[in-house]
Amino acid sequence: MKQDNLLNIFNNFNNPQILAQFITKKNNDGINKVLSSKFNSYSFKENILIVPMQKHTTNVILSNSAGVFEDCDGVFTTNPKIVCSIKVADCMPIYFAHQNKTVYGIIHAGWRGLINGIIKQTAILLKNSKHNLKNFDIIIGPSIQNCCFEIGIDVADKFPKKYLKLKKNRKYQVNLQKIAFDNLIKVGFLKEAIHITPDCTFCMEDNYWSYRRSRGTTDRMIGLIGYRTFKKN
Ligand SMILES: [Zn+2]
Repeated sequence: MKQDNLLNIFNNFNNPQILAQFITKKNNDGINKVLSSKFNSYSFKENILIVPMQKHTTNVILSNSAGVFEDCDGVFTTNPKIVCSIKVADCMPIYFAHQNKTVYGIIHAGWRGLINGIIKQTAILLKNSKHNLKNFDIIIGPSIQNCCFEIGIDVADKFPKKYLKLKKNRKYQVNLQKIAFDNLIKVGFLKEAIHITPDCTFCMEDNYWSYRRSRGTTDRMIGLIGYRTFKKN
């Protein structure tokens, strides 16, 4: 598999064991092959997957065994053999990794999940599991950016006004990454621990699928986080 099929974004994690990847449109393996665990070439230590059946909910789970989980949009584990996955095409994949303990996960945050509080639910899950939010590094992966995410007044009404910018076409521009960033800080994560990938899935057609650009494609990218086969230098 060629390297440009994958975006390796683990360099922003302080935990040297962590591998965080984003499988792009250029990947020829297909989503089913990846999710059927045939991905040794992805350099994960093991290939035991957690796959959430995403429904734009705010449900986030912590599981130390693999499997398919109904009705959830975020998955965490403390088992280094597990790789957490989510599927996205415009929505934000948000990766979390503890800096020195084995706790990591990934959530799917579209505008619905964001407004309904998936970030708050993530914080509650981690705090209930006795983890300090200040020890986590966070990466917001490729997603639709404010250059391309526009909404009508019906949806705009659901957002705090300070995040809306009225455009000439009477639509509103919204910066979802900024909302996620602010929410993460509000619930207790550290500002300096949050990294936002600047890639816009709508603009960068060669690399990414976009639900909005293709008006409802069923193709998705995959976000994966797990332990590496080897420590990075
Ligand atoms: Zn764009």
